[in-house]
Amino acid sequence: MKSVGEALRELLPCFEPVGVVRLPLLSAVGCVLAEDVLAGVDLPAFDNSAMDGYAVRLQGLTLGSAVPVDGESRAGGPLPPPLRVGSAMRIFTGAPMPAGADTVVIQEHAQRTASDVAFDDLPPLGANIRRRASDMRSGSIALHAGSRLQPGEIGLLAAQGHSSVPVYRAPRVAVLSTGDELRDIDDQAAPGTIVNSNAYALSAQLIALGAVPWMLPIVADQREAIAAAIRTALTANVVLCTGGVSVGEYDLVARAFEDAGVKVLFWKVAIKPGKPLLFGMAGRVPVLGLPGNPVSAMVAFELFAKPGLLRMLGDPTPYPSLIEVEIAHDHRHATGRIEFARATLQSSTNGSLLARLHPLQGSGSVPSMVGVDALVVLEANIEHFPTGTRLQALLLHRMPGRTDPPFK
Ligand code: AMP
Ligand code: MG
Repeated sequence: MKSVGEALRELLPCFEPVGVVRLPLLSAVGCVLAEDVLAGVDLPAFDNSAMDGYAVRLQGLTLGSAVPVDGESRAGGPLPPPLRVGSAMRIFTGAPMPAGADTVVIQEHAQRTASDVAFDDLPPLGANIRRRASDMRSGSIALHAGSRLQPGEIGLLAAQGHSSVPVYRAPRVAVLSTGDELRDIDDQAAPGTIVNSNAYALSAQLIALGAVPWMLPIVADQREAIAAAIRTALTANVVLCTGGVSVGEYDLVARAFEDAGVKVLFWKVAIKPGKPLLFGMAGRVPVLGLPGNPVSAMVAFELFAKPGLLRMLGDPTPYPSLIEVEIAHDHRHATGRIEFARATLQSSTNGSLLARLHPLQGSGSVPSMVGVDALVVLEANIEHFPTGTRLQALLLHRMPGRTDPPFK
């Protein structure tokens, strides 16, 4: 059986970006830039004042002696004329520096009368000026391909006048649920049936990543029906199939995969939950057979589908960084397979993150995925984890917040 690392190394290269699309700036939030973007303008665009005060030529000024105030420069106002020799110009934050001025004295150090100003302190030459192009020069690379467009990047692109940007296209992902017991969410409950909740949980995971879910109708546990549904699903960029891959049913789904032209690359990974993972390729389309158990399906998505999809989305670092946590209670697990245990996290007073494992760790328990912050990694060969053991964990979303402000 493959280890998680072996499975990931085999699977990841199969997920290739599906193209590039130019999107309006705000539709590209969270996307990955597909090409280098050049700076079209200098930042700052012109020499300007960093403070409210007086633009002066430092040489010749003496502490305490008054000089005439000649004109003003304000942000968005008329361009200031050159500074007259021996005078000071009123200036405001962001306003263009007048030619001939080399320093801004902040207004806190100015004594102003109606027409004159005297200074009780003089800064070094060049103080309080934001120089043209000191942050970024026109023609340089403003953002490199592979950058994820967070708000800071969006702000820079806007400052550079790019109202649209080339980003990796979001893959369309078919979500195919197999199982005779499944019913649609709005269907009348019939004895022995359950709602196809996997399709929703997985679609939510896809949406959170920036991929586009395509939910297909439920398929019965029947080889021909599954094969036909997979053929339809193969028009997507990726196929996620759930159910029917655990031991008894493996042949059914695997044969249906092959009937539909999917070449099976591996089946089963040494993990808990999520062991019966089935993976294959149909041309350029990766096809994942996820276990039907709701927790197994979600954990297998997190571990395997997510890095693959992030790679498709152009992310140059698609694997998750692990965080260090401290287990808040004594825990024992069955050795043999690495386990990804559901946990809630809480910051402790000593600064470490306390992990509490969910009391329900059954892979069929839908409620056990509620409120889960992280999957804590329990190594395969360790049986006992005493309270306070430091462990690695995979964060599922942003760190949990707190009710009180974190600052004095
Ligand atoms: P299977 O992988 O088909 O053997 O299914 C394992 C367990 O997961 C069974 O209890 C199924 O009823 C349940 N299950 C399978 N598919 C789904 C689904 N789409 N939504 C919710 N539960 C499911
Ligand atoms: Mg089944």
